Amino acid sequence: MTNRPLLLVTGGSRGIGAAVCRKAAAQGYDLLVNYHSNAIAAEAVAADCRAFGANAEVVQGDTATEAGIESIFQAVDRLGSLHGLVNNAGVVDATARVEEFDRARLDRMFAVNVIGKIRCATEAVKRMSTKHGGQGGVIVNISSMAAVIGSSGQYVDYAAAKAAVDTFTVGLSREVATEGIRVNAIRPGIIDTEIHASGGLPDRARDLAPIVPMQRPGTADEVADSVLYLLSPQASYVTGALLNVSGGR
Ligand code: NAP
Repeated sequence: MTNRPLLLVTGGSRGIGAAVCRKAAAQGYDLLVNYHSNAIAAEAVAADCRAFGANAEVVQGDTATEAGIESIFQAVDRLGSLHGLVNNAGVVDATARVEEFDRARLDRMFAVNVIGKIRCATEAVKRMSTKHGGQGGVIVNISSMAAVIGSSGQYVDYAAAKAAVDTFTVGLSREVATEGIRVNAIRPGIIDTEIHASGGLPDRARDLAPIVPMQRPGTADEVADSVLYLLSPQASYVTGALLNVSGGR
């Protein structure tokens, strides 16, 4: 245990989550880096965090399952008092029209992107809320501009799940506003990470650059900078906010 505040980042092994971990370590946080499958990537992120003086551990856990949630929060409790949660783990599926969706696709989409985030926030609130004897804290949910745009012809299910994240953010922020917890969301636009390849479109971020007003995809580091702002005392009066980090799109 150290004096540095403890931050849990779900899906911290790659992409936006990994960038958040590294920047948070550089800014004085201890890290719990959650991952699903890629242990080597998670360990590499934790090693980078330690190089910044952080106590950093990794924890495997599928945020879509109760067993995963239990593993993650057992690790939190071993490490100390939770200060912040970056509710980042998320998935897309292959590009498809709505009439091509099957039940298994929708179950996974909502289990990871909505229920997993609500379950992680629930466990964080139990530990951080002054109502439950905690010291307060901060939750940053990673939503998407898809929540606003709808992602027609690509993944309307993902967009609908992200809209649920937005509404959950606003509702939870008001519920815990007097309990020392701020809750906000970031809506990234098109960010250059491996998520696009996982949906079968490895060049998606570069291909879509012309439709972004700034004419380029964003970087994971640019999203992480906004996450770190929302985590910080400089955002002390910011709660229930949905911050677009999307190059104007
Ligand atoms: P990414 O590069 O594909 O990384 C996804 C991360 O989430 C990985 O660390 C992965 O772990 C983890 N993960 C996936 N499913 C998980 C599960 N069930 N339980 C625990 N961890 C899980 O994705 P990204 O682009 O950084 O996206 C991060 C977040 O930003 C997501 O919520 C995504 O929806 C959102 N977002 C991304 C973009 C974009 O353009 N990139 C735009 C808008 C919003 P493993 O390494 O173990 O697989």
